[in-house]
Amino acid sequence: MRFTTLGTGTISLSSQRTCSGYLLEADDLRLLIDCGSGITRRLAERGDEWRTITHVAITHFHIDHHGDLPTLVFAWKYGQLPPRSAPLQLIGPVGTAALLDRLATAYGDWLRAPGFPIGIREIAPGEAIELSPSVRLSALKVPHTPESVAYSIEHGGRRVVYTGDTGPDEALGDWARGCDLLVCECSLPSSMAIKEHLTPEQCAALAERAQPGHVVLTHFYPPVENVDILATIRERYDGYVTLANDGWEIEIDA
Ligand SMILES: [Zn+2]
Ligand SMILES: [Zn+2]
Repeated sequence: MRFTTLGTGTISLSSQRTCSGYLLEADDLRLLIDCGSGITRRLAERGDEWRTITHVAITHFHIDHHGDLPTLVFAWKYGQLPPRSAPLQLIGPVGTAALLDRLATAYGDWLRAPGFPIGIREIAPGEAIELSPSVRLSALKVPHTPESVAYSIEHGGRRVVYTGDTGPDEALGDWARGCDLLVCECSLPSSMAIKEHLTPEQCAALAERAQPGHVVLTHFYPPVENVDILATIRERYDGYVTLANDGWEIEIDA
């Protein structure tokens, strides 16, 4: 299983960090998780692989996590010859179908019927779905917006947990416990803490509770990059921790 950090930034627009997006590849499955503004650009920088995405999962309805989804669908319809014919599965919290309907009202019916089948699968917190014979995805409600979820993806005995955007939550630490890779938002320094996002200190508490094999921090607003994030994490978690950049590929061996 391979996990690529396509976009590690936020809506604080940056030339270095694009809004949220991640690519998870396992066997024939190619799952794009979140699709914020700039992710189509990051995909294009990697070549033709944007054409072969099989699933898109969004964590919540903030535009820095789904803003490029209509662009990607339009690209599959008009940006390649022949146009896409393979079905796409769109996964998201309850309300995803209504969101797509509202976007289609603005942009046009092509967003719901782009010439290839788009299946929408709303996932309730606590639910698990089989994305393929070997990949299982489950969701946990997290404190950010009313619909926000974190995702867990399991393949070949390995497990990746992506927090999406979240505030501090012990249940999230328990749910993530023992995962191989914890991709964790780290939005704001403690001097700017709010209950909808994590500070490095709160990421450290989450890592301490979850004890993952590897912590990858992401979703940095610029002020948090002025503090020593790694030192803060290491005060409570002595495992492997890295600060993501756009375009990193992480192999999770089966
Ligand atoms: Zn965000
Ligand atoms: Zn958000």
